[in-house]
Amino acid sequence: MTVAAPTIPHAPAFIEKAPLERYVAPEKPSLVGMSRAELADALGSIGVPEKQRKMRVQQIWNWLYVRGVQSFDAMTSVAKELRAALDARFTLARPEVVAEQVSADGTRKWLLRLPSENPGERPHEVECVYIPDATRATLCVSSQVGCTLNCSFCHTGTQRLVRNLTAGEIVGQVMVARDRLGDWPGGTPPTDGIVPSGDRAVTNIVMMGMGEPLYNFDAVRDALLIVQDGDGLGISRRRITLSTSGVVPMIARAGAEIGVMLAISLHAVRDELRDELVPLNRKYPIAELLEACRNYPGASNARRITFEYVMLKGVNDSIADAKALLRLLKGIPAKINLIPFNPWPGSKYECSDWEQIETFSEVIFNAGYASPVRTPRGRDILAACGQLKSATEKLSARERMALRAMAMTEE
Ligand code: SAH
Ligand code: SF4
Repeated sequence: MTVAAPTIPHAPAFIEKAPLERYVAPEKPSLVGMSRAELADALGSIGVPEKQRKMRVQQIWNWLYVRGVQSFDAMTSVAKELRAALDARFTLARPEVVAEQVSADGTRKWLLRLPSENPGERPHEVECVYIPDATRATLCVSSQVGCTLNCSFCHTGTQRLVRNLTAGEIVGQVMVARDRLGDWPGGTPPTDGIVPSGDRAVTNIVMMGMGEPLYNFDAVRDALLIVQDGDGLGISRRRITLSTSGVVPMIARAGAEIGVMLAISLHAVRDELRDELVPLNRKYPIAELLEACRNYPGASNARRITFEYVMLKGVNDSIADAKALLRLLKGIPAKINLIPFNPWPGSKYECSDWEQIETFSEVIFNAGYASPVRTPRGRDILAACGQLKSATEKLSARERMALRAMAMTEE
């Protein structure tokens, strides 16, 4: 008797890279990114009596996230002995900035160094990009080193080494930006770039840097809850946008547990094409993705879901595509964000012609959607969307062994 093989609706294919690199915590962990409960435990571990912990956590939280201090010594309302005890076991470290570039339009890009799994190996790197304008400024934050997914038009997707960032490394990007922008009480803003006119140098956060945030859900949630905290960094959830390539099962959880604005990297209106551009579509096809959007908690005309659509010449940019897009999004409170494709060395696509982008955007505008074209800011420093690929690459097994051996002989 023969047993029929189960039918697989979408051809199994190379969707995700594995395995992930591990995060190995430093001997002295940073308090940045710990939740209040974790901070209380940290205090408990150095002998702070339970009944004092809540008050101490509140004090430290304020020094960390309102004042932005970088040393325990600066926490003058905390008893000297406690400061010393904290200093012996913890740090206030943020990711290390290895390079800063300022683009002519004020965009800043920081290359951040993060610890690698094995001492002696090349460290991991991520980028964090700051995009200011006259009244607001958006920080584009990464959630992973590289990305496990392989969207065919995305430079980050070609990076082989992948590690999830910790909550501390995600919150740390916001801290680094504010450190570099002199954006703490008493700080001095830089003179070589634009900072918005209000009282905050970072007004909005987008999780649109390297990585797929919904593949690193817990750390992204924990970090964004700290970023939203009204007694700390205080960036409201309406000013935080999480962009996903469509990890359907996690979308409802993102709404319930993080509550931020949602952006979907749609890019195609037919499964056949989306399977190629965003291979995760083979797992979660368009209809399922849009169903998850329809059910996204809190979506309303005031809180629309953004649909990102990268303009690829001759691939997804026809008028028929624009009309199909409108049909697909019917009934969903949506914004449409057309992104001119940013080419990168070796990419097989071209950006649509400007006239075509305008015609496409007109069809969308005439249907009642605002369709801002996201201008490719920061092109001169390769910071624009999808070009966030650092020098970090997976080392060959041989290089790894050689490095480890070198590290051992140095000791
Ligand atoms: N992984 C998440 C978030 C990071 S990518 C996601 O895919 O949504 C941020 C946005 O930049 C996504 O919409 C992504 O599709 C887009 N993007 C990636 N490569 C690009 C490129 N070369 N040109 C323009 N946009 C790109
Ligand atoms: Fe990953 Fe997003 Fe790039 Fe796709 S577009 S490879 S999900 S970072």
